[in-house]
Amino acid sequence: MHFYIEVILPIALPQTFTYKVSEAEFEYLQLGCRVAVPFGKNKFYTGLVAVKHNDPPTLYEAKEIHQIIDEFPVVTEIQLMHWQWIATYYMCCIGDVYRTALPTALMLESETVISANQNNPEISELSDEEYLLVEALQQQSSLKINEVVSILNKKKVFPVIQQLLSKGVVSLQEEMVEEYKPKLIRYIRLFPEFNSSERLEELLSLLKNAQKQKDLVLGYFQLQASQRKPISVKELTEYSGSSAAVVKILIDKGILEEYYIQHDRISFEKADENEINLSIPQNTALEQIQESFLSKDVCLLHGVTASGKTEVYIKLIEGYLEQGKQILYLLPEIALTTQLVSRLTKHFGNKVAVFHSKYSNNERVEVWNQVLNQSDKAQIVIGARSALFLPFRNLGLIVVDEEHEPTFKQVDPAPRYHARDAAIILANLHQATGDTRVEGERSVVKPGAGGAKVLLGSATPSIESYFNAQSGKYGLVELHERFGNAVLPEIHLVDLKDSYFRKKMTGHFSQFLIEVMTEALSNGEQIILFQNRRGYSPVIECMTCGHIPQCPQCDVSLTYHKFKGQLRCHYCGHSIAKPTNCHACSSVDLTSKGFGTEQIELELASLFPTKNIKRMDQDTTRGKYAFEKLIDSFKNREIDILVGTQMLAKGLDFDNVSTVGILNADSMLYFPDFRAFERSYQMMTQVSGRAGRSDKKGRVVIQTYNPDHNTIQQVTNNNYDGMYKEQLYERYIYKYPPYYKLVKLTLKHKDFEKLKEGSMWLYQVLRQQFDIPVLGPEEPPVSKIRNEYIRTILIKIPQEKHLGNTKKAIQKILNSFDAISQYRTIRVTVNVDFY
Ligand code: ADP
Ligand code: ZN
Ligand code: ZN
Repeated sequence: MHFYIEVILPIALPQTFTYKVSEAEFEYLQLGCRVAVPFGKNKFYTGLVAVKHNDPPTLYEAKEIHQIIDEFPVVTEIQLMHWQWIATYYMCCIGDVYRTALPTALMLESETVISANQNNPEISELSDEEYLLVEALQQQSSLKINEVVSILNKKKVFPVIQQLLSKGVVSLQEEMVEEYKPKLIRYIRLFPEFNSSERLEELLSLLKNAQKQKDLVLGYFQLQASQRKPISVKELTEYSGSSAAVVKILIDKGILEEYYIQHDRISFEKADENEINLSIPQNTALEQIQESFLSKDVCLLHGVTASGKTEVYIKLIEGYLEQGKQILYLLPEIALTTQLVSRLTKHFGNKVAVFHSKYSNNERVEVWNQVLNQSDKAQIVIGARSALFLPFRNLGLIVVDEEHEPTFKQVDPAPRYHARDAAIILANLHQATGDTRVEGERSVVKPGAGGAKVLLGSATPSIESYFNAQSGKYGLVELHERFGNAVLPEIHLVDLKDSYFRKKMTGHFSQFLIEVMTEALSNGEQIILFQNRRGYSPVIECMTCGHIPQCPQCDVSLTYHKFKGQLRCHYCGHSIAKPTNCHACSSVDLTSKGFGTEQIELELASLFPTKNIKRMDQDTTRGKYAFEKLIDSFKNREIDILVGTQMLAKGLDFDNVSTVGILNADSMLYFPDFRAFERSYQMMTQVSGRAGRSDKKGRVVIQTYNPDHNTIQQVTNNNYDGMYKEQLYERYIYKYPPYYKLVKLTLKHKDFEKLKEGSMWLYQVLRQQFDIPVLGPEEPPVSKIRNEYIRTILIKIPQEKHLGNTKKAIQKILNSFDAISQYRTIRVTVNVDFY
């Protein structure tokens, strides 16, 4: 009998790999444990045990594993099932999911390391490059391959290393490095034989000639009496006004002993009992959600902006917390965590953990382990979409806040998953028993069977989710009013065409907007201005010939950044200094066209010279805490006017903002995308929702060339229903979600002709095989990025078609495409449910 394991490797290959293990290893290994395995010639990967079996592979000789890394699984069986679902549904490799899911610090890297042998080399026999390395190895005991690359300042270093090896000067060593080091805190205690009050006297007399040591021991006893918890060196020296040197003497004398405890890097202040009393509508909503969970697994909370959805979540979470369940709270943007964390910790204290990609590897591993061990320090986890991959074992509830946000969909790289939809699957996999069996089909998990529940929340639900709620698949609970005395803001439209015609514009500001702003500022209120830069960025245009500088590598105009005096490509980062004359006709008559947040900021400075104006966009929030700082100083009323992009539309809560201005609504409306009207509605409603969140009534001014546009009217009248019905109808007519599932194929290649041919081949085969709509191959609006041409093909799968089988058929065609030698170099990416 032979023993094998199937191992998931962090690489983009569709299968798992079979490795051989001994019988003892086979018994020892559990699914979800990591193993180091050899792969290819000289590589080692950290793989994950997915299956154990006794069948040798037919196509290759199974290699033996290198070593077992874990005694206990770091990944749960539920996760393995979840990953498999993601790989199948989103048409990607399980290795892609694994690589995304596991913090990199848990994926040991094999790195080739060279170290010097003991013998002294003959210097005269060494080439210059060889000598350089030997010299470097006298400074440090070993070198990694990429260090060698930088020392020699060239890529192909293997020949040099080969020479040194053959001369016996160095040797190779394949070294596994565990990157994660838990942070340890140094504690001290008295040796047990001294640790009693009877022995204290004796001890003090022993130290009677050493006053400092005596003080320290006394301090220790006092601390120990007042707090029944470990005493750190830092604490004791501070308390007794002593020093680490004195501690050392006592350790050397065998009176104190030191020990280490792993400390959690991320700890929060304790909650000061902060009771929340729900209003009557909030309470009704809570009860309705709980009731809906009796028969359904997903519930949509549709509550207008500032209706107090967060408080409803908190009350709901309380219930799951009492049952000892884990709770996952998903946000569309890590930048939003700060505000929420402080709101949640106020209530739940240090049961709240945060998981986000800006955290260090160590911090992420910490949360991972807490969740895995069901520590109450991470009983509630707040995070952006990647928090979905944490090893929950006893999940009770997932809250997906602002569920309509497109950022929940990962665009690149694979897995191109939607966190909201993947969350619903994950919740289903968590059965009430917490002990799901993997055997057989995973479709044994039935809705309503008592798995974890999912609450989706939004003031502007996505068409898809609202559709699911309307059709009864999800529960639906609505909050129509704002919390407390707050009311929804009044929305005023300004017709830009008319305003320009009557010369009532100063720069991009209508007279009306300026008046409203002036009034608000004189009342000491704050203002938010929204300018969506997407698709409408400032460019430099030649007044003589009309030339607009383009990116040489991409199919876009360069964006003008006034502050830096630069033209920059937003796709590849290419930049040039602002030209003084036209590259096409040499004319010096250049003008800037379009406008972004930066120009608005400048205009504001001259309109309101005494006010503090700040800008919030990707350029100003790049640093680690830049966003948080901006939010804080706005919250503390140090900023009068905040100008920003989409980021402002996401669930922020400021109590002193009375006025919101949307400078140009039209750029959003005419974005070439089937979701443009839905997105415009959401964005405008969300930004407007920042106004008047407390007692003062808010005012919103929307500037537009199309005041009669349906979407603008729907925003003005807070008519979500109207927007929903209109969009749903359009989706039906034009074959879009929720009626059709979309699979988008993107093909890229440097050779224009080859790409054209290849995409045509693929399109035609798809057309022949399917009696469903296949569109394309199309040149997208930006049809070249970094010198690669792009074509897209859109496949629309109607509800009556079997989704899984259709995807399998698509995959088959993609495989045959890949098998055609002249097309093999064309890169194809697959985006299921693309946004
Ligand atoms: P939403 O998430 O629906 O936009 P929030 O949860 O941010 O709304 O609530 C809006 C404001 O009202 C917040 O400042 C919040 O603290 C306050 N609020 C809501 N519900 C309550 C409550 N029950 N008690 C006290 N304050 C509340
Ligand atoms: Zn010109
Ligand atoms: Zn570019």
